[in-house]
Amino acid sequence: MAEEKKPAKKKVNAKAYVKIGRTCPKCGPKKRLAKHANRLSCGNCGYFERV
Ligand SMILES: [Zn+2]
Repeated sequence: MAEEKKPAKKKVNAKAYVKIGRTCPKCGPKKRLAKHANRLSCGNCGYFERV
């Protein structure tokens, strides 16, 4: 019996998203909000919030 070891090759860095910018509360943490002059908006669902 061979040992099955699955090393984590790709780790989704969820913390990096938070550092870069706000994420969409509707679409989940993987969707970032696009930066605008005075607001952030989600291109996926149309959600936006003022900064
Ligand atoms: Zn969204």
